[in-house]
Amino acid sequence: MLLVALTQVACSQQLPQHSEQNLHNNLMYAVAWKQTAAEYRALYHQGFNLARMRLELALVNRTPGSRPLAVISDVDETLLLSSSYWGYLVNQRQDFFDDSSWDKWIAENRTIASPGASKFLQFCKENNVEVFYVTSRNQGEETYQFALANLASAGFPYVDSQHVTVLRDSSNKEIVQQQISEEYDVVVLLGDNLNDFSRRYYVTEVDQRLELSEEDSDKYGRDYILFPNPTDGHWIRAIFGDSEPPANDQNRLIFKHAATSSAWSR
Ligand SMILES: [Mg+2]
Repeated sequence: MLLVALTQVACSQQLPQHSEQNLHNNLMYAVAWKQTAAEYRALYHQGFNLARMRLELALVNRTPGSRPLAVISDVDETLLLSSSYWGYLVNQRQDFFDDSSWDKWIAENRTIASPGASKFLQFCKENNVEVFYVTSRNQGEETYQFALANLASAGFPYVDSQHVTVLRDSSNKEIVQQQISEEYDVVVLLGDNLNDFSRRYYVTEVDQRLELSEEDSDKYGRDYILFPNPTDGHWIRAIFGDSEPPANDQNRLIFKHAATSSAWSR
């Protein structure tokens, strides 16, 4: 079956000769999925459709004098995709996230809107539901301007200093979320990392994260709308103790242990 599939791929595309390249790369499966899978894109539509249903319900249930409605969203891999950056890493034979090239890539303003993001955000705007963008990024002094440029280039609404928060020194979004919640009824939070929803997920162990996600199972698709990200996030931190682990064989071995933690032992 797999042979048939590979033959079809080989026949349908002119595959370049890469015999001189390193074809063993930790990132390959995840990045190929991001670049090609209709399922990846459909999960974004699914998330935004759920978010819209939550908003429609909240709009119907509004009562006179109630606080204005709001959505709080993460930015990267939630509203803006960076798939071309990850493809670049594979071409560079890099198999871990690289912060210095990421900063250069961000400055070139190449992020693109995730599937369904523009439509959902426009729905928010049309219904006077304010959108607050809260992201953790650090590209130095120009961090905020880069984030604004990325969001504005996508044509998103509410891209201004009142609605865009960039945390340069922390990934803790709760303080900003609480400030927004004092003035607005926050209907949903959007993110690709559980930490985008609550700081209680900022724990160090894989098993702790898994337990917390089970405890909060009723919240997903209701209060928390989660988008897929198989390349980066705090799931990486839970494995390595570092969200951006250095590329070395020790970490490749740690990755292998993670991948085989419940492997068939036959
Ligand atoms: Mg993100």
